[in-house]
Amino acid sequence: MEKKNLFGLTLAEIETELSNLPKFRAKQIANWIYQRGAISFEDMTDLPKILRADLEKNFEIQTPQLVKKLVSKDNLTTKFLLAFNDGAAVEVVLMRHDYGNSICISTQVGCQMGCKFCASTLNGLERNLTVGEMLGEIIFVQNFLRDEKQKVDTLVIMGTGEPLTNFDNLLKMLKLLHENYTLGLSYRKITISTCGIVPAIKKLIAEKIPVTLSISLHAPNNKLRSALMPINSAFPLEEVLKAGAEYALETGRRVTYEYILIGGVNDTEEHARQLAKILAGQLCNVNLIPINPVDERNFQPPTHNAVQKFFHFLNSHNINATIRKEFGAGINAACGQLRYASQGLKTKD
Ligand code: SAH
Repeated sequence: MEKKNLFGLTLAEIETELSNLPKFRAKQIANWIYQRGAISFEDMTDLPKILRADLEKNFEIQTPQLVKKLVSKDNLTTKFLLAFNDGAAVEVVLMRHDYGNSICISTQVGCQMGCKFCASTLNGLERNLTVGEMLGEIIFVQNFLRDEKQKVDTLVIMGTGEPLTNFDNLLKMLKLLHENYTLGLSYRKITISTCGIVPAIKKLIAEKIPVTLSISLHAPNNKLRSALMPINSAFPLEEVLKAGAEYALETGRRVTYEYILIGGVNDTEEHARQLAKILAGQLCNVNLIPINPVDERNFQPPTHNAVQKFFHFLNSHNINATIRKEFGAGINAACGQLRYASQGLKTKD
């Protein structure tokens, strides 16, 4: 008989699974797997030995395995390649900012969105991650940081995959992460990044959880956006911007628009002018990201001058813009690059 995995279940669900035991056992187990780094029943030293052996027969605790760890030269970025039970692997990145530890998790194995500049989508989508797998990415880093007496302070859902096409699992995971028997992470410390799945943005608004929404825009008109991001044909720019404005209005939270700057493609003053025009009056920030070139994609980084000019143009036209600080250069930190490299396909670095 297949063992039932407890990792990724809520306390109530664990209680149901262990309904023949007193309730406090479920609490103890949740505490062990979500807060004390246990990866087996054997680790749960305050449970009677006989109970541990009994649990072992019927249940398991599935947590990801570390395949590879890379640390940047300045020690501020650590990238983990984690594998799940079926061998599928995803990337998790830890960034040590001065305001705390931020982690970036993946929501899918691969991605089906087909963005032309992104490494994650090169081989399409393999599968969605489960609630337990996504939570497993976070708890893995939390356990890693515990040894340094540190913790995960903020979460960005910006790794491989399109989070809003794995909506139900993602929402369940975020609610679990918010519980005080896990990390008790405030929704305000969480950012979800999407390529602009409009109906799912509306579903997220209806959830009324105050997470920050980040929308990958990357182009100021439909022609260019459709060329870079096929999803734009399904949900064009006007609809994405409308959903973003609605998100800001309903939640009172500033939406971030991500804009990758690609040399000679979307980084001219005319592009900045168009962008300022379409965002005028929105409660938003623009995060400018000089492209992290992917070998398999034929895009060039913007010049330093082009980045500065774009940035100043937006700020002098009442659009709050920032330039993303580069993290993890040299360790394949751009989306999907490490996983892709580890598959023995074309590698970078
Ligand atoms: N699917 C979601 C989240 C994953 S991508 C989304 O589209 O937002 C996370 C961010 O990394 C997106 O803004 C994406 O456009 C960006 N990105 C992808 N490839 C990149 C590259 N080569 N250089 C810089 N940013 C990249």
